[in-house]
Amino acid sequence: MDRSLPSSDDWDVAGKRVLVRVDFNTPFDEVDGELVITDDFRIRAAVPLFEDLLARGASVVAGTHFGRPKGRVDERFRVGPIRRRLDELCPGVELLENLRFNPGEEANDAAFGASLVEGVDFYINEAFGASHRAHASIMVPPTLVPSAAGPNLRREVSYLLDLLDEPARPFVAIVGGAKVADKLGIVKVLAERADVVLVGGGMAYTFEAAEGRTIGSSLFNESFAEECGALLRAGKVRIPVDTRGLATGAAFGSGAGPDEVIDFGANIPDGFEGFDIGSASIDAFTAVIATAKTILWNGPMGVFEDPRFGRGTEAVARAVAASPALSVIGGGDSVAALQQFGLESEVSFVSTGGGASLELVEFGDLPGLRALREGVRS
Ligand code: AMP
Repeated sequence: MDRSLPSSDDWDVAGKRVLVRVDFNTPFDEVDGELVITDDFRIRAAVPLFEDLLARGASVVAGTHFGRPKGRVDERFRVGPIRRRLDELCPGVELLENLRFNPGEEANDAAFGASLVEGVDFYINEAFGASHRAHASIMVPPTLVPSAAGPNLRREVSYLLDLLDEPARPFVAIVGGAKVADKLGIVKVLAERADVVLVGGGMAYTFEAAEGRTIGSSLFNESFAEECGALLRAGKVRIPVDTRGLATGAAFGSGAGPDEVIDFGANIPDGFEGFDIGSASIDAFTAVIATAKTILWNGPMGVFEDPRFGRGTEAVARAVAASPALSVIGGGDSVAALQQFGLESEVSFVSTGGGASLELVEFGDLPGLRALREGVRS
C-alpha cells in the first residue's frame, strides 16, 4: 500500500488562504474562573509551519477542538486563552472558535465541513492527535480543496509506521494501562510484529487470571480472558510474576481500610487488590528491555500517579531511557510518566497523540490520513 501523504511544499500559496487543522487541545488550569494554558507545547509545535506559510505570502487560519463542549457553545471552552498565546508566539494567524461548539464537527456533517473551507484555497492537517476521529474538520476539507499533511503529522506517522515495518531486533513492546478492553487489539498486533510484548498495569490481571492465578479484586474483564490465555500460549507475551497492592477499599488514602502496601507473589488473595508490578517483575522486565534494539512503550505499569505504586512505571521508564535502542513512547499516560521522572529527553521519540498513536499501530492507518490520500490534489 502506498502510504505516502501529500505535501504542501510545492503549493503556490502567495495571496491564498490556507486552513490548518491543529490540535491545540492543551492542558489548562482554572484560575479565578478563567482558563489558563499550563502547557503551550502543542501551540509552539505548529509555529514553524505557520511561519513558513506566512513567509510564502499566505493568509493563515487555524482551527482546533478544545475540551469536550459536546456540540454546543460552552463559555468555559472558548479558545480565547489559546488565541492569546498563539498571538504572542506567532502574530498574524487567525484562530477559529472551538470546532466542537458545532454539533456538525463530531457528526462529520458535510455542510459544517464545507463551511470551514468557504473562501479557503488550501487545507493542511497538522492534527495527528485528532486524525483517528472521522470528524468534519478532518474528513470534509480534503474532499473540497487541495489538501496536505503538515510536517508534525507526517513525522508522527513515519516514526510509528517505520518502526513497525522494519524494526531493528530484538523489538520489545511494552503495553500497560488500566483496561484490557482498550489495549488488547494493540497487544495482538504487537505480538505479530515484536519479539517480546511485556504487559503490565491493570490490564495484566486479566492475563494473570487466564493463567489460573488469583487476582483478588484487581481490575478484570471476563470477556477477554480467553483471548488473553491464547496470547499467552502463543509465547510472545510476558506478564508480571508478582504484584504490589492494598487491602480492597484502602486505595488512594480513602481511609476506608488499612493502607499498608503489600507485596504479593504470583497470587493475590481475596480482599486485596493489585496496583503495581512487583520487584521480581521489575527485574524481569528491565532485563528484557536491556536487550532491545527497538522499543515501543504505551501505558503505565501501575497507578503511577500515587507514589506508592509508581515503582514499576519508573523502573520501566528508566530502563527505556538508559537503552541505546530506538525508543518510541506512544502517548497519553506514558508520556506523563516520563515527564514525572524527568526522562522525556532521553528517548528517541515521544508521540503526542495517545488514541491516534494506538490506532495507527493497531490498524496501520487512520481515517484522517486516508482522507488526505484520497482527497483533492493541487
Ligand atoms: P490507560 O489510559 O489505559 O493507558 O491507563 C492509564 C491509567 O491506568 C493510569 O491512570 C493508571 O493509574 C491506571 N492503572 C494502571 N495500573 C492500574 C491498576 N493496577 N489498577 C488500576 N488502575 C491502574
